[in-house]
Amino acid sequence: MNAMERQDWEARVGKLDLTAGVFVNGEFEPATSGATYPDFSPTTGGTITEIPAGDQDDVDRAVDAARVSFERGDWSKAAPADRKEVLLRLADLMAETSDDLALLETLDVGKPISDAIGVDVPGAIGVFRWYAEAIDKIYDEIAPTGPGDLALVTREPLGVIGAVVPWNFPLDMAAWKLAPALAAGNSVVLKPAEQSPLSALRLADLARRAGLPDGVLNVVPGFGPTAGQALGRHPDVDAVSFTGSTEVGKLFLCYAGESNMKQVWLECGGKSPNIVFDDTPDLERTADMAAFGIFFNQGEVCSANSRLLVHRAIKDELIELLKERASASAPGHPLDPSTTLGALVDPHHTDRVMAYIEETRSSARLVTGGERLTISSECFVTPTIFDEVPPDHRIVREEVFGPVLVVIPFDSEEEAVTIANDTDYGLAASVWTRDLSRALRVSGALQAGTVSVNTVDALSPATPFGGFRQSGFGRDLSLHAFDKYTGLKTTWIKY
Ligand code: NAP
Ligand code: MG
Repeated sequence: MNAMERQDWEARVGKLDLTAGVFVNGEFEPATSGATYPDFSPTTGGTITEIPAGDQDDVDRAVDAARVSFERGDWSKAAPADRKEVLLRLADLMAETSDDLALLETLDVGKPISDAIGVDVPGAIGVFRWYAEAIDKIYDEIAPTGPGDLALVTREPLGVIGAVVPWNFPLDMAAWKLAPALAAGNSVVLKPAEQSPLSALRLADLARRAGLPDGVLNVVPGFGPTAGQALGRHPDVDAVSFTGSTEVGKLFLCYAGESNMKQVWLECGGKSPNIVFDDTPDLERTADMAAFGIFFNQGEVCSANSRLLVHRAIKDELIELLKERASASAPGHPLDPSTTLGALVDPHHTDRVMAYIEETRSSARLVTGGERLTISSECFVTPTIFDEVPPDHRIVREEVFGPVLVVIPFDSEEEAVTIANDTDYGLAASVWTRDLSRALRVSGALQAGTVSVNTVDALSPATPFGGFRQSGFGRDLSLHAFDKYTGLKTTWIKY
């Protein structure tokens, strides 16, 4: 449908609205300190624009604006149907400007433009629509107390929500937080990742145009240890909803404990197993999806299927099929619509991914890949597969966040489950088998927030997403996300 070629996208870059500021009370302003930083593009190899580096003062201003708007009540106490209209208008404006949103996303983080157009932007729009439609269809409760008593149990918005998000799906992660938090009537201060502030700032502008009252959504771009920490420690923030690494997630727990005991909800890392039994329904499709599960979005996916657990009887055959998929998805220029594997987010992260690859070379068998390429920047890595990796190797246990797969053979169902659960994480898992009983047995035994059977990364706004163990707690998406952004109030009336 989208017939734009690479040169059309490149021509469009110059016309993009790159207004950047600390977005407080409906206005873009410089950081109080006046500081800025260059926003690097792995898609061009250059600087896109200067971004204000918000810090403690800016977070203070943003939280104040959020609190004032919450108390004012023109959003927090608006009828659910009125909030729905504004959020639907926001989704419409996103749809009208979807090419620009996609281009901002690809410029900022290097993902293929066809993914930005086909996955990220429609995904974010869908989430706003889903929560907009949900908000006037949720009923509160009357408790079964008996005659003479009426006990109402109502969901109340919490107040000011801090949302802190990563760079791998900047727009989608912002939408996963903002849509339910705003739908429930809260005011929000969003801190995007330093690598990817552009789509969050555009979203703020669209929300203002959609009629969201000033101060209800504020965006403070800046760095984790300054702006992020200030939000985590702020005494007037009621809850922080965080997506990012387990390491930083733990810091937010400390921030809350050392400040006002704000609620903290964490969506953190993963090392998800993809378990292929020898009765998998279709090995070609299994290979397609196993490759997608690790190479999609350059492997920069929290739920990436980064450990392929395969029955020994079919291991060599599956590896051969995966090699074909890997060579068919060579990295390309992110603005070329035929590209399926784009750039990693920046040179620093690319160094980190390459370090994992280099230190694994001598202790495992490199099946394919392992190369760093310079295309439009030095941030491209070929799809990489390692076999015969020692089980305690770092690459088996730690999140690489790149297009790097480790293959681990197993001989029995029991062994597969033991290996799968032998991790600090518990975000997602996949199981491939024709045997329904086995699918249910294994799914039940896996420690994972989502288990996909005969597919990978099954996901919808209607199903909760999040992890067990050090992948975090609390769920994004579905009606369950409202649990993070509302508190239950009992109002008991004697009559
Ligand atoms: P990250 O380093 O943990 O950063 C996430 C956010 O936290 C960023 O906005 C970051 O700001 C901020 N931050 C960093 N240090 C901080 C500090 N000391 N205090 C307060 N805030 C701080 O993660 P990332 O590298 O951006 O993203 C990759 C990670 O996100 C992976 O571990 C991935 O698994 C995880 N992830 C999880 C999910 C999920 O739903 N479970 C989804 C996507 C990604 P800066 O940008 O300035 O560092
Ligand atoms: Mg960037």
